[in-house]
Amino acid sequence: MFRSSLRSSVSLGRSKPFTSSGRQLTSPVTKSFQQHRFAASYKRFNQGSSASTQFTLSQLLRSRATLYIGLGTVGFCLYNLENAPVTNRLRLLWIPFWLEAKIGDYSYRQIMSEYGNQILPTSDPLYRRVSNVMNKLLESAISNTPDQSQREHLKSLPWTIHIIQVDPNKVPPNAFILPNGKIFIFSSILGICGNDDGLATVLSHELSHQLARHTSEQLSKQPFYLALSAIMYMATGVDWLSSVFINGVLKMPASREMEVEADHIGCTLMARSCFNIHESVKFWQRMSDWEAQAEVRSRGGGVAAASLQEFFSTHPGTPRRIANIEKWMPELENIRESSGCYEHQFGLFMDKTRNYFK
Ligand SMILES: [Zn+2]
Repeated sequence: MFRSSLRSSVSLGRSKPFTSSGRQLTSPVTKSFQQHRFAASYKRFNQGSSASTQFTLSQLLRSRATLYIGLGTVGFCLYNLENAPVTNRLRLLWIPFWLEAKIGDYSYRQIMSEYGNQILPTSDPLYRRVSNVMNKLLESAISNTPDQSQREHLKSLPWTIHIIQVDPNKVPPNAFILPNGKIFIFSSILGICGNDDGLATVLSHELSHQLARHTSEQLSKQPFYLALSAIMYMATGVDWLSSVFINGVLKMPASREMEVEADHIGCTLMARSCFNIHESVKFWQRMSDWEAQAEVRSRGGGVAAASLQEFFSTHPGTPRRIANIEKWMPELENIRESSGCYEHQFGLFMDKTRNYFK
């Protein structure tokens, strides 16, 4: 997802499908857990025996089965640890490519049921423009993917672009890519993109979530969040505490970290694909202007409100994103310079980019 879901009123379906960054997640598993937890709470309240709950937790923690499950889990986690691209942070990732694509298919059906009748026809010239930009990014991304199985997986995906026609006064700018290669762009973001480099800023960011497998990373942690939530509830009996802790302390900072990572990988990809990386900063400045206008229209605020909003948001604030890109600029210029962009610019470079949108 390109923008913060807190700032945006865009809702991707009532049952929140998985997006390129995998955050809009309220899975059936989560729902069933929440229902179960409610049932447990009801029973416990009626019986008025928090001691029995404490006893159950204590028993559970000391049982031999728990020890074996714990050791198995530690082994499983150690086996599935790996380094994230660019930032090299250590992370848990155990979702295979095929499951990632299936999850994308599931989300795709949900999104199409909501926005299917607002999709711009493929005869619209906008498709050619978007697919030209996306083709360059994909070519560069795939050829620079070090892992061969991921490279083959990316090549095999049925890449498709959908432009969702919306009223820009009602639907905030947004875009996302599903893990099955389906790309969605809300028409309200096109005016802010302004040019092909602005469009590349949006698309490269979304593609980077896919390259870094952020959806799978989020899903890989989901069972642990559920287990932690259950343990916290059993220990405290307070329903909202686990939700605040898991969202505020674990999920949101991790999400912001992934957004920064996607910005960094995206800018690198833009530079490698010979887009003008300075336009990326201009794009974010235009986005910042749009956010300021939207803020005025909605309820006002200020620097303190913006900081608070960023803390409770899944995305970093726009000024922070601009500062990050400016910090990476020397590195990005070096990448662009060493990518043969001069030859490309003067037509000396034979464009052999594969068309992923036939
Ligand atoms: Zn994002």
